[in-house]
Amino acid sequence: MLFLDRVTNETQKWLSERIFLGIYRDVCQFRQKTTILTVEKTRLNQLNGMKKQIYLFFFLLTWSFAGVAQGSQADKITLVIHGGAGTITRKNMTPEMEKAYTATLQKALETGYAVLKKGGTSLDAIEATIHIMEESPLFNAGKGAVFTHEGKNELDASIMEGKTLAAGAVAGVTTIKSPITAARAVMEQSEHVMLTGKGAEEFAKERGLEIVDPSYFYTEKRWEGLQRALEREKSELDHTEGTKPVRKSSQVVVPTEKSVEDLIFLEGKKFGTVGCVALDSYGNLAAGTSTGGMTNKRWNRIGDAPIIGAGTYANNETCAISATGHGEYFIRAVVGHDISALMAYKGMTLQAAADEVVMKKLVKMGGEGGLVAVDKDGNVAMPFNSEGMYRGYIKADGKAVIGIYKD
Ligand code: ASP
Repeated sequence: MLFLDRVTNETQKWLSERIFLGIYRDVCQFRQKTTILTVEKTRLNQLNGMKKQIYLFFFLLTWSFAGVAQGSQADKITLVIHGGAGTITRKNMTPEMEKAYTATLQKALETGYAVLKKGGTSLDAIEATIHIMEESPLFNAGKGAVFTHEGKNELDASIMEGKTLAAGAVAGVTTIKSPITAARAVMEQSEHVMLTGKGAEEFAKERGLEIVDPSYFYTEKRWEGLQRALEREKSELDHTEGTKPVRKSSQVVVPTEKSVEDLIFLEGKKFGTVGCVALDSYGNLAAGTSTGGMTNKRWNRIGDAPIIGAGTYANNETCAISATGHGEYFIRAVVGHDISALMAYKGMTLQAAADEVVMKKLVKMGGEGGLVAVDKDGNVAMPFNSEGMYRGYIKADGKAVIGIYKD
């Protein structure tokens, strides 16, 4: 018995020792593993922390570089506008009219400037600026559009982005409240560049743009302008050669003394299209133009304003252009693209290229008008060969400079 007891006791002891040792070993192993895990976790956390710091460092570095880059471009933001060229002289202007034009030009410049200043794109700035002028009855665009021979308002507009050379235009539209917005929609929301008439209107409606009754565009002043143009046309047909512009062999239209006098009172000589070019803080150029065309136009006549390369052009490599004047000449002289080409291929400065086209080429052809332009460095040019041009520009300092007359 005793022997049995002893064997049992020994076995129990041996077993408990094994069990204890086993548990002890397991605990140790577990603790070891946990410690290793904790160490690894800590190391991982440290690594992650370092990684985060490195990422943060590079992020801040890139951000500050971008900031510096943006800062240097932000210094160059520039917006230039025109409200039409033509027979605009001090003699023909009342102080009230001058005040009204100046105030609207100022408002348009400030509107575009505010967009550029807070980092908006040149396209956004142009659209916002042109809205101001389209909504003013003073200018021949949107609300103040001139009348066609049949007594309608047919509007044209175009817009172009210098970075991508993307462009959009509408022509001969009668119910779209903002043709410049429609032109932008064509550029951004269709695969086309130019839409006309009913189709353009359907497209605008489909895209949710504001559609108005054609009577929205009626203004007394423009209606009277049409009546005077019609009377003049009639008297020209009825009588004399005396008041009629004569066509020379080179197709230069040389009005006689009397006809110039007549034309002063006609809307046809006060072109009145609106346009805007801009350079934004990302170094991107853009151009936009909006117009009612020319008083007494017929047969769905379309001028240069919606023609990319003629009335509107933008290319980040060179410049952005918006023109105003006798559209037929501006189309034939391919004004916008010609200036850009002179800069690109001949290395001319913006001013020299713009003068070459407006003051020489167009003058030689008999094409009256002018344009506003800005280049990729923010240089501004506003040449015109007519008696005046509503115009202005604003740069990073926010000071608007406005001009109307030649002197
Ligand atoms: N260029 C425009 C056109 O011929 C007219 C204007 O500038 O007022 O339609």
